[in-house]
Amino acid sequence: MLDSVRVRLTLWYSAVLTLVLIVLALITYFIFWRSTLQRTDVNLSELSEAFLTTLDAEVKDQSGPDSLKLAGQVAITEHRFRDHVFAIFDAAGNMVVSSQDVPPAATATSASGETPLSSRSFRRFLDASFRSERLFGKVRGGEDGYRAFARHFSSGGKTYVLVILQSFHPQQEMLEEVAATFAWVIPIAILLAGVGGYFLARKSLAPVVAMSSQAGRIGAANLHERLAVQNERDELGHLARSFNSLLDRLGQSFERQRRFMADASHELRTPVAILRGEAEVALSQQARSPEEYRESLGVLHQEAERLTHIVEDLFTLTRADAGQYPLQPREFYLDELVSECVHSARTLALAKKICLNFEEASESPISADESLLRRMILNLLDNAIKYTLDGGRVTVTCHREGENYVLSITDTGAGIPTELQPRIFERFFRVDKARSRAESDGGGAGLGLSISRWIAEAHHGRLELTRSDSTGSTFSAYLPVESRDSASAC
Ligand code: ADP
Repeated sequence: MLDSVRVRLTLWYSAVLTLVLIVLALITYFIFWRSTLQRTDVNLSELSEAFLTTLDAEVKDQSGPDSLKLAGQVAITEHRFRDHVFAIFDAAGNMVVSSQDVPPAATATSASGETPLSSRSFRRFLDASFRSERLFGKVRGGEDGYRAFARHFSSGGKTYVLVILQSFHPQQEMLEEVAATFAWVIPIAILLAGVGGYFLARKSLAPVVAMSSQAGRIGAANLHERLAVQNERDELGHLARSFNSLLDRLGQSFERQRRFMADASHELRTPVAILRGEAEVALSQQARSPEEYRESLGVLHQEAERLTHIVEDLFTLTRADAGQYPLQPREFYLDELVSECVHSARTLALAKKICLNFEEASESPISADESLLRRMILNLLDNAIKYTLDGGRVTVTCHREGENYVLSITDTGAGIPTELQPRIFERFFRVDKARSRAESDGGGAGLGLSISRWIAEAHHGRLELTRSDSTGSTFSAYLPVESRDSASAC
């Protein structure tokens, strides 16, 4: 049950609300208690003023040694309230007069039979009152105790202490009522808020539940389906859009993979078919001359080589895609590597009477994967020779331009139609499929330029077709002079 976000949200919400309400109730109770106490104290103070005024007036009317006692009895009779106890003590702590005696019915008694004036807490309060001009305090007794007030006054040249006790019972009852109200209001508020919170959480999370079940139904077969976006601007809308764009990218990647597989199998099917056909023809004829067998074996060999070439290229690209092609950089001179490659391609160029020319370059030290760069240069040279007519010219240059070495291979071939130029780096793309396969000795599968571009990019450089028209084409590779560490793992 706690695995549900809705339940967890509701529990958290209710817990926080409970805490807030309890703190609020405690604060309210405290404020209420304090103001009740203050009101009681003000009341006691005013009562003492009135009592002393009456006492003063009565003393003047009396004579004899008990004049204060008699005046006190009159004042007590005048000011007696149900919940109040009055008492006057002389400086020695002897009680002069008290309302507990007049009349006896007004005497407040505690549950144990102890009167407030005879309790020990009253004695303590009385002792303290002699040390202070005015004193408020608490005295036990009655149902909920008394609020006590003591003040000094003089009469006939002597100092006395007037003590007034006020029962705290009505105030305590009121405070208990407040507490009882909180005791039922808080649980009901929490219950209502919890139920409301649960439904609110359920309503807010309903789109998430809908999205997750929708997402659960999306698989390879229906990758084109998208999540419904209810409100583009809110968080859930944002989530749905992010998920949809993830599906877009996945879909594109699936599509690329599918096309790659289809193209790869298509490319592999042709040499395999030739191999099978040639072998079947050779086997079907009973008697064949050694020349005929040699010729068949030559075809088989050529197609097997072509197959090997395609499989190797595919393997390279697959590893490159997975980021698992380990580069092995080392220090060497780029101009020397280019010179070696030009030298190797010379035989191919000679066969087509193509003038292959490398314009001598200055020393170009570089730290790179030599065998990969060799592969890229040979690919470009191979293409330049392959797509240039007999008697043409291929020129290779290598120079430094700022932070890069620029390696350019220019041919005088027929060029690439402008509308197809953006696609020539795509995998398996060939301008003229029939011609490229027929003309190549190893057979072009349209992977050479994709691999070459990947090699340049793996070295943090780039490969571009910088010019192509009816007079020929120029491919340029830009390779950074300074190697970067990350180039070692592509
Ligand atoms: P391929 O193995 O077919 O040569 P590439 O990926 O190397 O594959 O080249 C892709 C296509 O680009 C080629 O089939 C060809 O049509 C075109 N191409 C590449 N280089 C040149 C060039 N120097 N001149 C004209 N066309 C070229």
